[in-house]
Amino acid sequence: MLNERMVALGTQRSVIRELFEFGKKRAAEIGAENVFDFSIGNPSVPSPDCVNETAIRLIQEMDPVVLHGYTSAQGDLGVRMMMADSANKRFQTNFHADNFYVTVGAAAGLCCCLNGICNPGDEVIVFAPYFPEYKVFIEGTGATMKLIPADIEAFQIDFEAFEAAINEKTKAVIVNSPNNPSGAVYSEETVKKLAAVLDEASSKYHQPIYLITDEPYREIVFSGYNVPFIPKYYKNTLVCYSWSKSLSLPGERLGYVIVPDEAEDSKLVYAAVAGAGRSLGYVCAPGLFQRVCAECANETADISVYETNKTLLTKSLREMGYHVVEPQGTFYMFPRTLINDDIAFCEKAKDFNLLIVPGTGFGCSGHTRISYCVPTSRIEKSLDAFDKLAKFYR
Ligand code: PLP
Repeated sequence: MLNERMVALGTQRSVIRELFEFGKKRAAEIGAENVFDFSIGNPSVPSPDCVNETAIRLIQEMDPVVLHGYTSAQGDLGVRMMMADSANKRFQTNFHADNFYVTVGAAAGLCCCLNGICNPGDEVIVFAPYFPEYKVFIEGTGATMKLIPADIEAFQIDFEAFEAAINEKTKAVIVNSPNNPSGAVYSEETVKKLAAVLDEASSKYHQPIYLITDEPYREIVFSGYNVPFIPKYYKNTLVCYSWSKSLSLPGERLGYVIVPDEAEDSKLVYAAVAGAGRSLGYVCAPGLFQRVCAECANETADISVYETNKTLLTKSLREMGYHVVEPQGTFYMFPRTLINDDIAFCEKAKDFNLLIVPGTGFGCSGHTRISYCVPTSRIEKSLDAFDKLAKFYR
């Protein structure tokens, strides 16, 4: 008998995948330029020049046996030193190479952290709206996910609900700021309050509650906003970073986990993260791109188009009568749907060749996710369709 959970995970097509297939079919019928696909979070801008330049230089100059060989499981030492230097410059921290565990993107970082710290029966708290893979990653460890309903006014944290959800089984809390799907960035006030609640709960239950911070959008933040660096506020923080979005490299699979020295039993936690990577069969992250990302760690792709798109869409959708909490970062927004049933709303949107994702899958019904990592011209062309959709419900 097969593992039923795995069979189910492998056969259920995600809503986003369904939309993607629908989009391909419609494009064949009416032309790709008439299909407004806002379903997927694939960066739409090229990587900065330093990525290809570094890759080419390394291929030409480095001993290929070393370049294409296995690295240490936790990542090449020189690479981890460069990553620590970059973080120290940017966040005024004192990290060293051994705080860094290089991963196959943030997804692997999350899995390594969760598997490293969770035991069956533990609970991991997640705030809606959330990245749906969290549930898969958490349940893969035998722990359960406890979902805190969204604060739909600002997409910060509903602290009353959060505090009520913490108990002796709470092993970790996952936060994602800038957030997929809302585009919200947690304010310093939110982060301070979160840290205070976790400090108090950790003392009450005589065990650390880990704060796993999932940060693939850390650099994609709009003018006027800052992303507080969470380890400075809470010592038992595990950072999961990725270059998928900032360097437009999602297919190259590169990121890292930081286990700060300040975390309780830091060395044991690091060992548990590394042990989880081993048990999950990651072996090591891709060697060429470990080196490329380390050398380009202080760069980003030209991400300015995301802010242009955010401003245009927020203004236009509001004029049409949509309720939009203006995103502060990422390339997503999460407006309210014009009827309560977000699944029916997104289905209707297809009649206007608009592909947008129901909020239900992100744990927040009555909303829809729009991924605006697309050329601005596609947004301009799609406005008429958004307007027709609004008029249909008026
Ligand atoms: N976390 C969030 C919130 C994401 O949106 C994504 C990807 O879209 C990931 C994690 C996974 O990113 P990576 O490509 O680094 O594994």
